[in-house]
Amino acid sequence: MSFIIEETIAQLVENIRSEYQENKNLSEGTLSMLSYLFDFTATQALDLVDHKCVSHIVSSSGRELYKVQRNTSEFHICLKNSNYCTCPSFIFHVLKKEHFMCKHKLAVILSSAMGLCKEVQYADETITLMLVGE
Ligand SMILES: [Zn+2]
Repeated sequence: MSFIIEETIAQLVENIRSEYQENKNLSEGTLSMLSYLFDFTATQALDLVDHKCVSHIVSSSGRELYKVQRNTSEFHICLKNSNYCTCPSFIFHVLKKEHFMCKHKLAVILSSAMGLCKEVQYADETITLMLVGE
């Protein structure tokens, strides 16, 4: 991602944080900017946020990651400090630079900014198994 895009997203996240804290919703301008930057990915990410699909997981040793789960059979893992996600869209669209990020990572960013992540604590072994896909 270019520096300008990263700065624009950082400013947008700050707007989301303050708007949601004050009004418990997002302004038309913020929603338009999300749509402009992320196109249909924004709609999909907001759907994940609306359904409270994002969990912030902290292990007993302090490792952190995010789990995005829309239904009982499938979930994806996003790392805290990188743009990585375990979903196919990350491989097919983000790595090829067609999209800035997948809907899961955007949902993580939005949920975190809005304070809507479920806070969960897992054992280190459980997190290791999640990362290897078991
Ligand atoms: Zn993803």
